[in-house]
Amino acid sequence: MYQQSRNFRSYKKPVHGSHFGGRSSGRFTAGRFSNRPGSNRPGSRLLGQDINMFIKSAVEVSSDESYTPHNNFNDFNIVPALKQNIADKGYIKPTPIQDQAIGPILEGRDFIGLANTGTGKTAAFLIPLINKIYKDRTQGVLIIAPTRELAGQILEELRAFTKDMKLSSALIIGGANMNRQISDVRRNPHFIIGTPGRLRDLIERDVLALDNFSNIVLDEVDLMVDIGFINDVKYFISMLPKVRQSLFFSATLSPKIREVLNNFVTDPVTVSVKVQDTAENINQDVVKVESREKKVDQLHDLLIKDGFDKVLIFGRTKHGVEKLHRDLDSRGFKVGAIHGNKTQGHRQRVLQSFKQNEIQILLATDVASRGLDIPNVTHVINFDLPETYDDYIHRIGRTGRAGKTGTALTFIE
Ligand code: AMP
Repeated sequence: MYQQSRNFRSYKKPVHGSHFGGRSSGRFTAGRFSNRPGSNRPGSRLLGQDINMFIKSAVEVSSDESYTPHNNFNDFNIVPALKQNIADKGYIKPTPIQDQAIGPILEGRDFIGLANTGTGKTAAFLIPLINKIYKDRTQGVLIIAPTRELAGQILEELRAFTKDMKLSSALIIGGANMNRQISDVRRNPHFIIGTPGRLRDLIERDVLALDNFSNIVLDEVDLMVDIGFINDVKYFISMLPKVRQSLFFSATLSPKIREVLNNFVTDPVTVSVKVQDTAENINQDVVKVESREKKVDQLHDLLIKDGFDKVLIFGRTKHGVEKLHRDLDSRGFKVGAIHGNKTQGHRQRVLQSFKQNEIQILLATDVASRGLDIPNVTHVINFDLPETYDDYIHRIGRTGRAGKTGTALTFIE
C-alpha cells in the first residue's frame, strides 16, 4: 500500500474564501460556481459559506414508506403480460410519479413530469406506452435521452418490461456502430431510444423519419438543454406528426426549457415529484487539499480506508479523469473511467464491472455520469468541484439511494 496512516482532515467550520476561490487559474472561483444559471444557491457571494454547502450530516430516512400510492400495479388497466413483467422485476407498489402518471398516460393524455432520476420516472412512461403499443402494433415510440448511458438504462428497463411480449426496440446512440443502427431502424422497431446527435444524423441521412412516431418521450430535458441539444430537440419536435402523444420529463423548468415545452405538449397533465433534492440521507463533508502535489496521495489515503467499497469519483475534465485513472491504476487500485472520449462499448463495459463490484472505483465526468443508476455506491468523491450546486446535488445523489445512507466528500483547495 502506498500510504496507510494519514487521516484526511475534515473541516467542520467555514474557512476563508481564499481557500475556495483564490486560485490563480480561476477555475474554481466561488463567483463562477455561484453565478452560473441553475445554481440553487441564494445570492452570489457566499465565500465563507460555500464550504458549508458541502458539509451536512445525514438524516435518518425511513426509505420510501412515507408515500401511500392511490393505485397498485394491478389496478391499472394494463395487459396481464405486462403486469407479470412488472411483478417479475420486483416492483411491488408504484412510486409517486408512477402512481400519478400511468393513469393519465394510459388515457392518452400528454404529460409533464417534473422529476429527476431516482423517482421511477422511466417506468412511469414505459408501462403505459408498452401497453399502448402491445394493443396497437402499428404505432411507434421514440424516446430521446441526453446521454448514452441513460438511453442504455431505458433500453434495459424496456427489455425487462417487454419480456415475451414480442415488441422490438433499437438503441440509436453515438459511439456505437452506425451501420448496425441503420439496419435496426430499417426494421421499423416499435421503440427507438436515442440520443440527439445520432438521431439527427440518421434523420439527415434519410434513414429515420419522425413522422412515423405518434408517441414521443423527451427525458431529462434539463440536461439536454444544459449539454446544448436545445436546437436539436426543437428540430425533432418540428418533424413530429401533429397528432401524437407527447411526454416530457425534466427536473427543472427554466425559461429555455419552457420554450421546448410550448410547441411540444397539448393540454398536458403535470405532476411534480421531488427526491433527494436535499440529499438528506447523505453525509456530506469536505477534504482540505494540502497541496496540489499531494492531492492524489490524499485520495489514496481515503480509498484504502474501511468502508470505501464502491466509490464514484468525479473529475471536471476528460483529461483530468484520464490522468487520475492512470495514477490510481498504477497504485494498484481496481479502477475504471467513463467520459466522452471513451467508446460506447468501453463505457458500458466499465459501468457494468462497477455495477457488479468487479472494480472498486469509477471515475467520471459530469455528463457521462448524469442519471446513472448504480446500486450501493458507498462514497461519492468530488475530486474536482462541480460547476454548479445543481451538479453537486446530481453527483452526490449517486450514493445514498434506495433508503441507504451514503457519504459525499468534496476536495477543497
Ligand atoms: P428511475 O428514476 O426511472 O431511473 O428509477 C430509479 C430506480 O428505481 C431504478 O433502479 C428502478 O428500477 C427503480 N424503480 C422504479 N420504480 C420502482 C418501483 N415501483 N418499485 C421498486 N423500484 C423501482
